[in-house]
Amino acid sequence: MPNLFIDLDGTIIDARKRVYEVFRFLVPKSNLSFDAYWEIKRAGISNESILINHFNFSDLQIANFISQWMKEIEKENWLELDKPFDNIKSKLQNLKKNYKLILVTARQSTTNTLKQLKQLQLDTYFDDILITNQTLTKQVIIKQKFDVTSEDLIVGDTGKDIETGKALGIKTVAVLCGFLSASTLEKYNPDYIIQSLTDFNA
Ligand SMILES: [Mg+2]
Repeated sequence: MPNLFIDLDGTIIDARKRVYEVFRFLVPKSNLSFDAYWEIKRAGISNESILINHFNFSDLQIANFISQWMKEIEKENWLELDKPFDNIKSKLQNLKKNYKLILVTARQSTTNTLKQLKQLQLDTYFDDILITNQTLTKQVIIKQKFDVTSEDLIVGDTGKDIETGKALGIKTVAVLCGFLSASTLEKYNPDYIIQSLTDFNA
């Protein structure tokens, strides 16, 4: 069976509320609404650029923000804001018939990721779970463990996921339910663009 490498945040789980609330926590003076924040982010604009353009952050403040962000973003109280996308479990169950399902995430914490997957009852669907811990790239951890072929696919919500698939020589699927808009993702030239993984026809 071909491998289907699946991203976590923005692909299996809706993490937009967590990302927005951590931003608000770290930038209390921000008055950006959830929708306003995500309209900017989905255009491919980073938190750092938002802080420079909207809040006049200095280099030092940016550096401080980034280090605080990495400390906060995977804390359990924030992770509790995450929700699996609608109908994702039945879709995974279906995809299992035709693919080896491998979760690939750039999360920092293996412990908190596995704990969350269990809490959300998402842990049983995957043949393997690869976590970069922000020390290796997705490309490297996939290559270390799998002999990929052109039959394999990767699905994710960011340009990085598409670049990873292209570097591995596998097919690439972008989903629009996550962190980036269609016009942003089109720039990475994925093989397929779909609204969410539940629209993936295998
Ligand atoms: Mg993602």
